Amino acid sequence: MRYISRSGHDTFRECPRKGYLRYLSGPFGGSDTLGLEQPTSHPALTLGIAWHTAAEQLLRGVPATEAVKPALEFATSQGLGDPELNWLLGICLAWERAVAEDFFAKYEVLSIEEELTTPLTSNVVLYTRADAILRDRSDGSLWVLNWKTAGDVKNWNRKWFYDIQSWTESLAAESKLGEPVRGCIYLGVWKGPMYNGGISSRLIYGYKFTDRSGNVTYGTENNGSGTRFSVWNEKFPFGDGVAAWVSWLPKDFLKKYFVESAPQIRQDELVGDWLRQVVTYESDVDHILQEGTPQDVKDFFFQNWSDLTCGRCPFNPICTLKATPEELIAEGFLQPRKKSPRDEAQEKVTEE
Ligand code: SF4
Repeated sequence: MRYISRSGHDTFRECPRKGYLRYLSGPFGGSDTLGLEQPTSHPALTLGIAWHTAAEQLLRGVPATEAVKPALEFATSQGLGDPELNWLLGICLAWERAVAEDFFAKYEVLSIEEELTTPLTSNVVLYTRADAILRDRSDGSLWVLNWKTAGDVKNWNRKWFYDIQSWTESLAAESKLGEPVRGCIYLGVWKGPMYNGGISSRLIYGYKFTDRSGNVTYGTENNGSGTRFSVWNEKFPFGDGVAAWVSWLPKDFLKKYFVESAPQIRQDELVGDWLRQVVTYESDVDHILQEGTPQDVKDFFFQNWSDLTCGRCPFNPICTLKATPEELIAEGFLQPRKKSPRDEAQEKVTEE
């Protein structure tokens, strides 16, 4: 049985050997999960996961200062620093102050972090997880919500034209709910300007201006004479830190940190074609894993050599025969893959 997620399937398409090493090799080091991964995730990825944790609470209507707590706990455990931690607080407060009322007036939140499993054939199951399922109050239509943290929200609609996820998630949601789901809405959370690879959002950095009489005023841009300050360390006449700053900033300014895509309507013919390709490929994978010799497996999961894919691939030393998985684990470059929600869902089904 192949229990697949879209991102997992994409990894196999990018390079079959990469997919094999990431999801099917091993098990290593006594782990009960197959596959290998890098021990530390990228800070941008960690920030995205932390935001999703907070967003889940915000969609439940939890106040921002409470909603952010699990996100801060996770982000701290992953080693994110003051700018990222304070950005998380700032963006939750910005949502609450500038966006939440309009959002909840427009949409009813039907479910949050919904696990969706869709059997495609008797041996291939598609696993997806929807950030939320919404009902548009104006016409009763259902939509899957996807949160995306982004460094750039330009051309926000065009970014999602080729994202098959929008169609597979809405298909899966429809099969679970038994009601038509029209497609996806992508809600972008803008991280703000970046400086030297770090977050430089005006939610956490401001500028102050001191006149000849010593009077201090505040702003979000330098304007040639401002002194930059970290909001979280600042005491303002109107309060301290990020909470005071976000409540002082204009609502229209805060709204710019959230961008909603036009509805991305599901295209059944395209998604049908794509799913048939998925089923063919995944059935072949299932067959080779069940019936193939180790050499067959090696041959099937061929290496997609290219500077583009191999240059930044964590499995490069294995592919180029410079090190074994065990050596890379011992050196801390790789670790046995941690169990994902998809693995847990598959285990549940297997036990049943
Ligand atoms: S190094 Fe290249 S060939 Fe090897 S798994 Fe990575 S992408 Fe594939």
